[in-house]
Amino acid sequence: RISKIKYEQQEENLKREKEAIIIKEKQAEETANMRQSFLSAMSHEIRTPLNAVTSIISMLKERADADDQKLLTSLQFSSKNLMRIINDILDFSKLDSNKMQLEMHSVNFKELINNIRETYLGMALEKGIALNVQIDEGLSKFYMLDETKLFQILGNLVSNAIKYTNKGSVCIDIELMSSAAKKDTISFSIEDTGVGIAKQDQTKLFDSFYIPTTITTRNNGGTGLGLAIVKKIVELYGSSVTLTSEKGKGSIFRFELELERTTANIQIDQKLTN
Ligand code: ADP
Repeated sequence: RISKIKYEQQEENLKREKEAIIIKEKQAEETANMRQSFLSAMSHEIRTPLNAVTSIISMLKERADADDQKLLTSLQFSSKNLMRIINDILDFSKLDSNKMQLEMHSVNFKELINNIRETYLGMALEKGIALNVQIDEGLSKFYMLDETKLFQILGNLVSNAIKYTNKGSVCIDIELMSSAAKKDTISFSIEDTGVGIAKQDQTKLFDSFYIPTTITTRNNGGTGLGLAIVKKIVELYGSSVTLTSEKGKGSIFRFELELERTTANIQIDQKLTN
């Protein structure tokens, strides 16, 4: 009889513990939702006037003399940087509260990669480094993917690679790993000959707001959110990012995506959540 009472007590305790966990999870979700709507509203409020500022700067630049041009270019750089930080915070908060979804469309893959190259070529040339792109000929022309988010992943990795490389090159290598009935597994690697990342920083780098305290990378004005965003988006695709790096020699960021082959005119929108 005593053991029966004990058993019932244990059951009761277990039930209470489970209820407490459920309440805690609900509270955490509510807090995350509140944080996300606050950040979203705030970012919108900041973005609107900032957009006005950047377009006025562009207009002023057209009629400014050489000295003022320099000042306006610097102002333009700062406002673009501010916009990037705001976008990073908003994206991160969406990803953090699982509000971000993949929006899959049929996308011209090679065009997307070409856009990446064109977007970052100027940045690489300014630093006197080469930006090489290698695409496997065996890849299909069209795939179902979320174009904006793949652009964001590659953009973040490529801009980091250029930012943290002072001589040599950055190479984007895209390879077909294997093919199944309608799908291809594609490997993406972004390799640089830059400053590299110390062993102790390599895993922490993908945490939000983590910036190594080394002098070489301190002055780049980043938020430490870029790689956390990359990691979360790659996870939405059901994959993960790996990093191989050696201090002073360079880094390679890699991830593999399993993508469905399509034809050009397909009109399907698929939403995927993680
Ligand atoms: P940030 O916006 O600060 O660049 P990230 O999350 O993109 O944020 O990167 C975090 C840190 O990781 C950077 O501050 C930098 O020190 C390091 N890092 C990222 N990519 C590279 C790279 N390719 N080579 C060397 N260091 C890198």
